[in-house]
Amino acid sequence: MPFNIQSLEHYYTPRTVEEACSLLSSNQDFIPIAGGSAIYIFSAKGLLQDIRGFVSLSSLGLNGIHGSDAYIELGAMVTHQELLESRLDKPSVLSEALLAIPKEVRSVGTVGGQLCTCFPNFDLNVALLALDAEIMVTGGDQVRREGIEKFFRGVLEPDLRPGEIVTGIKVPRKRGLLSGYSKAALTAHGFSLISVGVALEVNRGFFEGARVAVGGALNTSPVRLKGVEDALRGHPVTRETIVEASESALSEGALNVGTDNKASSEYKRRLASVLIKRTILRVVGL
Ligand SMILES: Cc1cc2nc3c(=O)[nH]c(=O)nc-3n(C[C@H](O)[C@H](O)[C@H](O)COP(=O)(O)OP(=O)(O)OC[C@H]3O[C@@H](n4cnc5c(N)ncnc54)[C@H](O)[C@@H]3O)c2cc1C
Repeated sequence: MPFNIQSLEHYYTPRTVEEACSLLSSNQDFIPIAGGSAIYIFSAKGLLQDIRGFVSLSSLGLNGIHGSDAYIELGAMVTHQELLESRLDKPSVLSEALLAIPKEVRSVGTVGGQLCTCFPNFDLNVALLALDAEIMVTGGDQVRREGIEKFFRGVLEPDLRPGEIVTGIKVPRKRGLLSGYSKAALTAHGFSLISVGVALEVNRGFFEGARVAVGGALNTSPVRLKGVEDALRGHPVTRETIVEASESALSEGALNVGTDNKASSEYKRRLASVLIKRTILRVVGL
């Protein structure tokens, strides 16, 4: 049954992170609300039946966008549109993933809100995995910093303890990084069937570093395909290397795709392989 707003008993707008965490830790049936766009999806799926209160994160001052040589630092409440419009020099995989989100959603959805769903078919999640983002988490008194792979424990399972929220995201900056994002969806504004984010370091004609992240209609959060990365790293930047590496996606155990009403698992796996190949070829200019 869809969530009925009438059954919501409490809506708090705390002014400090400590206050927000305290409200959440002492009320297990409260959840944070950021832009509220995914909560709308949860509600339609009947996932909010036991929720009695929302704790809005809108007045905590988590809206900063800063750049240093080493990192892009984002407050959890930065919207997708604010990040897209920021003058920061952004890796292409980030800009391309943001552009893949429908404009009306970009204006509402926040980077922290998207991350905390761990949904594989949300575009930014895949780009942030390719970029090896670090997540800043706090329970009020202490801040911890966690790698995105550990943070994505499973769909709707961020690595957060009761009373913890995400305050920010740090995206490492690497000079000369080549990156890109591709999305295949059944409709122009649809969720991805398969999407691919790549971040590559090339030195003297060889792949020195490679991160290949895949999202879409998976049974898990977005995943890195380490077999594909291994098949690139240390090899020359040629069409042959890229074709061979992409083919290894067909047998990657990490890529857990099932057959659903949109496509068979075989089709999704083949699509992932083709998108990886096309994205890398585009990114390296072959
Ligand atoms: C019609 C529609 C189409 C969409 N299409 C796309 C698309 O094509 N591509 C795409 O990438 N996305 C798409 N989205 C998803 C959208 O990007 C996400 O809903 C959005 O990013 C979530 O951010 P939010 O701020 O609205 O999160 P909310 O809905 O406010 O929260 C999401 C979840 O995270 C928790 N949460 C939020 N912030 C924090 C925090 N800082 N710390 C701890 N927990 C937190 C909430 O409790 C909730 O469980 C679509 C959404 C809709 C409604």
